[in-house]
Amino acid sequence: MNQVVEAAHAKINLTLNVIRRREDGYHEVEMVMQSLELADIVRLRQVESGIRLKTSSAQIPAGKDNLAWRAAQLMFGRFECTGGLEIQLEKRIPVAAGLAGGSTDAAAVMRGINRLWGLQQSTEALCELGARLGSDVPFCVRGGTALARGRGELLTGLPDCPPLWLVLVKPPLGVSTAEVYGNLRLDRIGERPDNEKMIEALAEKRPGSIAAALGNVLEEVTVQMVPQVQGIKQELLRAGAVNAMMSGSGPTVFAIAEDENHARTLAKVFEHKEYTVIVTRTINQNSDMHAAHGTTDE
Ligand code: ATP
Repeated sequence: MNQVVEAAHAKINLTLNVIRRREDGYHEVEMVMQSLELADIVRLRQVESGIRLKTSSAQIPAGKDNLAWRAAQLMFGRFECTGGLEIQLEKRIPVAAGLAGGSTDAAAVMRGINRLWGLQQSTEALCELGARLGSDVPFCVRGGTALARGRGELLTGLPDCPPLWLVLVKPPLGVSTAEVYGNLRLDRIGERPDNEKMIEALAEKRPGSIAAALGNVLEEVTVQMVPQVQGIKQELLRAGAVNAMMSGSGPTVFAIAEDENHARTLAKVFEHKEYTVIVTRTINQNSDMHAAHGTTDE
């Protein structure tokens, strides 16, 4: 085996609460994260030496600043990996969108190197190492449905989310997560999500209760920076979405639909606008996450 293909799944936040600002400058969060079927395709090939990266997107760095490249460097520094690696990224996840595009590519590279070199590292070990690259990397290594605490790296598995069809709508501009957190005023947070309620809704597998328990304290911050977020949300609700909310630090808004047809109907509302519109669905950790994996021998 000298090549592997990893699906690097996007995530949404079903909830996002910020508790406080820590002494180290990070924010302490409590959020329910959910993997989506939408994924970048990450192809890894063992080569003689060095780390090389090719990407299908001009919007992300092609070299050492790419999180996928940094993930490879981290793994090579930590484990005995002979030779080098070529990484090919086929980007399908919108960039700087609140969907963890960079983190999930990094996680896929870590999983892929683990397989290619037969390192036999556990998911937990990869999560712990991945936290050095970014707070969302551990969740992306693991996937599925999980409660994330600390700065996002402390994960507790939650009951699988029942299958939900979603529409993602992203306005043209991206936002920087750091800037959104920088603009957050903890004393001005209005309504906070109730994570207990969300966890209960997940355990009961009730889409309606999951939709009702959505909540993200960063939404009102990002709306100040990208007012279209508010407009998109209202338009989705007006068009009949079960509920709609911004994911992560945004600016992507996701809507929960009744079923696939309903999701496609909602997506049509934005057909002639300058937005990126994607119909996708939630996936579970074990049954669906590894479906796109492939290995090839040369
Ligand atoms: P999160 O939801 O974790 O906050 P995001 O979806 O908002 O992440 P990303 O798509 O990860 O944001 O992009 C954030 C920044 O990371 C961009 O400015 C981008 O240039 C940079 N970046 C580095 N490597 C990658 C990558 N492999 N894919 C996407 N962005 C990357």
